Amino acid sequence: MLERTRNIGIAAHIDAGKTTLTERILFYTGMIHKIGEVHDGAATTDWMEQERERGITITSAAVTTEWWQRAEEGTVKLFPEQKQRINIIDTPGHVDFTAEVERSLRVLDGAIVVFDAVAGVQPQTETVWRQANKYHVPRLVFVNKMDRTGADFDNVVAEVKEKLGANAVRILIPIGAEDQLIGQIDVVNQKAVYFSDDDKFGSTYSVRELEGELKQIGEAAYEELVAAVTDIDEQLGEKFLLEEPFTLEELKQGIRRATIANKLIPVAGGSAFKNKGVQYLLDAVIDYLPSPLDIPAAVGMDPENEDHEIVVPTSDNEKFVSLAFKLWADKFVGKLVFFRVYSGVVKKGDTVYNPRTRRSERVGRLIRIQSNQHTDIDACYAGDIAAMVGIKNVTTGDTLAAEKHDVVLEPPTFPDPVISMAVEPKTKADQEKLALALARLSEEDPTFMVKTDEETGQTIISGMGELHLEIIVDRLRREFKVEANTGAPQIAYRETITASAGGEGKLVKQSGGRGQYGHVILSVRPNEKGKGLTIENKVIGGSIPKEYINAVY
Ligand code: GDP
Repeated sequence: MLERTRNIGIAAHIDAGKTTLTERILFYTGMIHKIGEVHDGAATTDWMEQERERGITITSAAVTTEWWQRAEEGTVKLFPEQKQRINIIDTPGHVDFTAEVERSLRVLDGAIVVFDAVAGVQPQTETVWRQANKYHVPRLVFVNKMDRTGADFDNVVAEVKEKLGANAVRILIPIGAEDQLIGQIDVVNQKAVYFSDDDKFGSTYSVRELEGELKQIGEAAYEELVAAVTDIDEQLGEKFLLEEPFTLEELKQGIRRATIANKLIPVAGGSAFKNKGVQYLLDAVIDYLPSPLDIPAAVGMDPENEDHEIVVPTSDNEKFVSLAFKLWADKFVGKLVFFRVYSGVVKKGDTVYNPRTRRSERVGRLIRIQSNQHTDIDACYAGDIAAMVGIKNVTTGDTLAAEKHDVVLEPPTFPDPVISMAVEPKTKADQEKLALALARLSEEDPTFMVKTDEETGQTIISGMGELHLEIIVDRLRREFKVEANTGAPQIAYRETITASAGGEGKLVKQSGGRGQYGHVILSVRPNEKGKGLTIENKVIGGSIPKEYINAVY
């Protein structure tokens, strides 16, 4: 099963259509049976009520689906040996939650990056792209919303190349656009795929030969694709030089190797909302994104001796090693610990060891999340993702291993919070409830911190942006039934820098012009002592990483 497993993330700028695409994937893979509007509350990866209200996905839910690759024209044949497992690790699209994105990228093997066909490369996609580069995550691009007025596939492909420096090649080119979006050119197979008009769920389609203008476009794209792959892939490159023919399967393998090596980004276009092009995209996930066996083995270290590296091979026959990447307080089941197995197998009832706390705990239940259902499983194998119940002493980023197996995987890194505010319960009697709730929330979210101001005795909460804290306050009310009053958000950084010539007076800089961190206005004024300058920053949207402020001045 391992070679037929894909752990993927879907990343995008907010509103590009990530939730809609995830929902469509769950639909086509049979995990949900009704396609609903994302914002009418039917999207199953958006667990929290408020997420639906806000239209953003905050939590990184891991959902498991099964996909049978298309066997014949327009049909799906269900051979068990062709069954593929796709674990979708949800990555949030809002700039305030980059830490969530970061932690998801740490445990997934490949990603679909979704773009809006009108808006093209947007600030958050740039951030996500850089993070994916950092973790060497192979990617496919899906140019979504091809049905929108002004949709321009080739323009987005050009932007992906120019702005993100990606070696993007088209594999599924939309036929038509806007209300004339009728199909896709399957570049690899040199076929035209037409979506069936009388099937509004887009489950059926017909495959035809390329003709006329489509044939020209398809052949040019094929040449481009072959040139790109043979340039990167030695095996195919050699054949190409010797002018030896290669088979379709060899070409696909070449694309796969180049994509996994992170040297090629296959691009597909379609419309999730209109159910156009999602099934072929799923095929591309199987064809080109890596299985857990295709990625280098994780490397951990001995907690007693940090120089001592321990390789963690992706195999069921090794000692169990996993990374806890997400904690979630589930209303019905209790604390869920989402984990990715790197080595070995964990079974229900096993005892797992946390090298950080040096404590062992018993796994009460193992759960797979399929859409909005919990399914109990008996075991979870190397390369797979699931959730444990029964583990109490754990925080995000912890390694959970076999008993007495002292190995620590590198935890994801989280930036320091950038914004703080005071909170207090509306009624004094809720003081203790508030403290408990905040403790729970900070345990779940490594970028959310709680402390008590020594001078005033106030409870101060800190997070990645105003929205982040707003959501926390919202969750206090909804999940913990604590109404809280909040003070004005304060920027967590206030720095004094030495005044330089020309530095006097008021210097207002508007930065983040490309929107990387939202629009941040920094104003600098002499401080009381007249010695330096105090930087104040006002966040209009998004968060301000410390490095950024330092870089500006
Ligand atoms: P997310 O913020 O990336 O998760 O985006 P959503 O999936 O919530 O989509 C944002 C908005 O775009 C919603 O109103 C969707 O209905 C809409 N949308 C998503 N996919 C498409 C598409 O293919 N075409 C059009 N026209 N709208 C879409």
